[in-house]
Amino acid sequence: PEVVNRIAAGEVIERPAAAVKELVENALDAGAKRVAVRIERGGLGLISIEDDGGGIPRDELSLAVERHATSKLVASAGGGVDLLNIHTMGFRGEALPSIGAVARLAITSKARGADEAWSIALEGGALDTARPSAWAALSDNGTRVEVRDLFFATPARLKFMKSERAEMMAVSDIVKRLAMARPDVAFSLEHDGRMSLRLSAEGDPENEGRRARLAAILGGDFAPNCIQIDQRRDAVRLSGFAGLPTFHRGTREHQHLFVNGRPVKDKLIVGAVRAAYQDLLARDRHPVAALFLDLPPSEVDVNVHPAKTEVRFRDATLVRGLIVGGLSHALAGAGH
Ligand code: ADP
Ligand code: MG
Repeated sequence: PEVVNRIAAGEVIERPAAAVKELVENALDAGAKRVAVRIERGGLGLISIEDDGGGIPRDELSLAVERHATSKLVASAGGGVDLLNIHTMGFRGEALPSIGAVARLAITSKARGADEAWSIALEGGALDTARPSAWAALSDNGTRVEVRDLFFATPARLKFMKSERAEMMAVSDIVKRLAMARPDVAFSLEHDGRMSLRLSAEGDPENEGRRARLAAILGGDFAPNCIQIDQRRDAVRLSGFAGLPTFHRGTREHQHLFVNGRPVKDKLIVGAVRAAYQDLLARDRHPVAALFLDLPPSEVDVNVHPAKTEVRFRDATLVRGLIVGGLSHALAGAGH
């Protein structure tokens, strides 16, 4: 089983940023309002994620690191699990066991209402029993997950890592993307003892909160150079902000796309954005945008890829039409 875990781990956890994504998503699923990320050596030395969410009760700690044990899937009417009705970021029960298979993993958690915090350690797949632990953290309850020496158990994977700087940039990028979708949550990111990002909670995930959070991440230039989008077609909604054609960039990295609050890099959405700006931008120029697509979970399959960055829409034509039509309409309204 350890070999299986290590192979599977490579699929989910390709680099430090992938571990950070999974752990921050877990914090958000636990209802956290504050998430503090600490990184050492680009994430290869240490990844520490602390949250003020509901915590993990003592008797569930060892279950949390077991493969395919998730507390998040809802049973369907037929008695199976309901993969068409996913409301959490995680649902595969793979992240913690995968990380534990290739790194030294320690989890300390104080469940809401519990008297004590408990910790558990998993090293190269071997599990220690839970022990009581000190808790001096963000709030009375929450969880701290510490990952040390990522890929120490898989030297081949370690060889593929880029520089610590490049890994840190990828970490910073994913924290920012997750933070864009959740302006109601405070985030901080520290690298080698230096604070590199600090975002206070902005309240309302819609409108003002989102606007303030995007300005904090994308910079003050974005707001005056973008238009607000809010379009619906059937049960699908497209909202967010799209840059004016005059505010272009040389790469597509500045397009931030979300489906039901998850950052995605989806070909259909990218293509639809491209099509909307086609006659407004030169071929090698790309718009800046932060676009949020929200639709009933049954209309989108987020189960296509373990890292969950690609999705499959049930009605791709409708989604594409909404994006191309919605953006074109808004751009025309702004005089383009
Ligand atoms: P998944 O998120 O797909 O359920 P994970 O391996 O990421 O699988 O996590 C396993 C389980 O551990 C989760 O279902 C959850 O019950 C628990 N868990 C993990 N991280 C946290 C956290 N930060 N706060 C509370 N519970 C957590
Ligand atoms: Mg998870």
